[in-house]
Amino acid sequence: MKTINDFNFENKTALIRVDFNVPLNDAFEVTDTTRIVSAKPTIIKILEDGGSCVLMSHLGRPKGVQEAFSLKHIVDKVSETIGVAVKFVPDCVGAEAEEVVKNLQPGEVVLLENLRFYAEETAGDKAFAEQLSKLGDIYVNDAFGTAHRAHASTTIVAEFFPENKCFGSLLAKEIESIDKVMTSGEKPVLAVLGGAKVSSKITIIENILDKVDHLIIGGGMTFTFVKAQGGSVGDSICEDDKMELALDILKQAKAKGVQIHLPVDVLAANAFSNTAETQIMDVTKIPDGWQGLDAGPKSLENFKEVVLQCKTILWNGPLGVFEMETFSKGTIALGDYIAEATKNGAFSLVGGGDSVAAVKQFGFEDKVSYVSTGGGAMLESLEGKTLPGIAAILE
Ligand code: AMP
Repeated sequence: MKTINDFNFENKTALIRVDFNVPLNDAFEVTDTTRIVSAKPTIIKILEDGGSCVLMSHLGRPKGVQEAFSLKHIVDKVSETIGVAVKFVPDCVGAEAEEVVKNLQPGEVVLLENLRFYAEETAGDKAFAEQLSKLGDIYVNDAFGTAHRAHASTTIVAEFFPENKCFGSLLAKEIESIDKVMTSGEKPVLAVLGGAKVSSKITIIENILDKVDHLIIGGGMTFTFVKAQGGSVGDSICEDDKMELALDILKQAKAKGVQIHLPVDVLAANAFSNTAETQIMDVTKIPDGWQGLDAGPKSLENFKEVVLQCKTILWNGPLGVFEMETFSKGTIALGDYIAEATKNGAFSLVGGGDSVAAVKQFGFEDKVSYVSTGGGAMLESLEGKTLPGIAAILE
């Protein structure tokens, strides 16, 4: 696996695919700089080598050229974050961009206009990728958030750098973290899968059964498993058409020696509301009119014991409806246990969709080993898929 550390960038121009798809407010100000901060180590290493950087990214989903999606809005924030005055080019390909890049001096950084102003980007157009390839000597992919897309700038462009392509430090770290959980992590390995539906996590569960020793299943998924085994789940979220599948998963887990841990009790409510009447209930005895919206205290005690004995932990998906305070306690408790296990030396990776939001909201970001920067890309990695943006560098 080639990374930026395998290259000396002295007098070279790095064409870097970053993920600067940052949130903007109505005044077009960046409201969360995480993605810019994450790209900084790669940029700094290249500049310190004596190289220059051409940054390319998408922003949102524009339909053609739309001012609101211009990356010009973020230039000042990028300059401030990386500590270098960044030049902006109002196009991502063509004569002007090529001219700017030709005159680029070591230590300089330019940001190109939104790649998605061209439909060719998401179409993975080869001619467009070739035009991009003229803007650097070495191609660096540091955008995990788009690594699951075979777009021109994330995948196709790599063809034009057969020898001179590598991962940036952010993408390398994502790959290493996933690898730790999926293949090289210290045992026992635990996956905690929560969230709303079995149907959206099924491929992950099936793939992960070969990799883990313990699997905690929580959140809304719980009730499909409980009902499939004959329990009463009341009005809890449940996918009746996935009950067969749930039983099959339990059977597969048994055959593979994976211990599955489901909640035994839940915090149930008489309405899907933060101010509903609530009661702790046995997970198999929820009456009609009530729905389980968070893990109960006995379940949490069980989960704590499992988490604290594991050395490698993957967390994807909340244990309850964490967006409502009343039902956030299970997810917070789980975060506490994972933080404690991490402090005791375990490796913990949080990734994919809502778990990242939960981890940030409850302040666990610095208490786990790694928080992934890619939602969809992380989910596809956990499903066992080879991401095209990663494959393109490895080829
Ligand atoms: P996902 O994107 O699949 O990780 O699902 C996350 C969503 O699952 C969050 O918005 C939670 O509110 C929701 N969720 C978690 N537990 C439950 C539950 N018991 N009932 C309904 N929704 C839940």
